[in-house]
Amino acid sequence: MPELPEVETVVRELRSVGLIGRRIVQARVFWPKTVAAPDARRFAREIRGREIRDLSRRGKFIVAELSGDRTLLVHLRMSGHLDVQPPKTRPRLHDRVVWTLDDGRQVHFEDVRKFGRVWLVRDPAVVLRNLGPEPLAISQAQFAAGLAARARQLKPLLLDQSFLAGVGNIYSDEALWAARLHPRHRSDALTGAQAAELLQALRSVLRKGIRNLGTTFGAGKTHFVLPRGERGRNQEQLNAYGQTGAPCPRCGTPIRRILVGQRSTHLCPTCQRAPKL
Ligand SMILES: [Zn+2]
Repeated sequence: MPELPEVETVVRELRSVGLIGRRIVQARVFWPKTVAAPDARRFAREIRGREIRDLSRRGKFIVAELSGDRTLLVHLRMSGHLDVQPPKTRPRLHDRVVWTLDDGRQVHFEDVRKFGRVWLVRDPAVVLRNLGPEPLAISQAQFAAGLAARARQLKPLLLDQSFLAGVGNIYSDEALWAARLHPRHRSDALTGAQAAELLQALRSVLRKGIRNLGTTFGAGKTHFVLPRGERGRNQEQLNAYGQTGAPCPRCGTPIRRILVGQRSTHLCPTCQRAPKL
């Protein structure tokens, strides 16, 4: 599932191919449930003629600011993928929404597993209001206060989008490994130094993910690829996530996979000591 670095990579690439300033002349919806709001017919009608003014990211959402006081939000969820195709490209089997631009190019939202969603709204806060702060922007004090206030296990807390926006399974495992913290460690039991180290680790794994154009773990249509079809490169540099049985790059102990709050979690049992209860 795409996380902050993957979504950031998609946004940067969409900007770099010149979508800003283009006008949407048509939207075709092939799977109405992909449109979360308004209904699919209204979505297609209301988006027509609007210019793309800006493209950005908030958490795992792609945010396209449009002319006439509307915002298009896209969440890729499990397998969603946006790509830009030349004029007159035929829709593919798994395309759920296709937008045609005034230069003829088409933006395709392809989504094999159909969990991805798009919204056309006046006020993006309607969709984004429950998101916590951005991990690359939050202050150390705010992060430490949030950890102390929650009293939850670190792994599920990091995945909670209302605590921090944009972190998922891959980057939480990588950050906890880098900070030498057990995923079941309670957030309110961290020392100030541990909290600082965790935020540092989160930022560093997220920035590395962005530099590497995201993580493409596995192959096939359900995995993350960039809008132009390339795979990310971050999977070659993971230390814990998906590395079950491989030696920990720090100490050589085989990486173990456990379940924490129903989520598969990878850790080094030597570097990341289980908390004393
Ligand atoms: Zn280790």
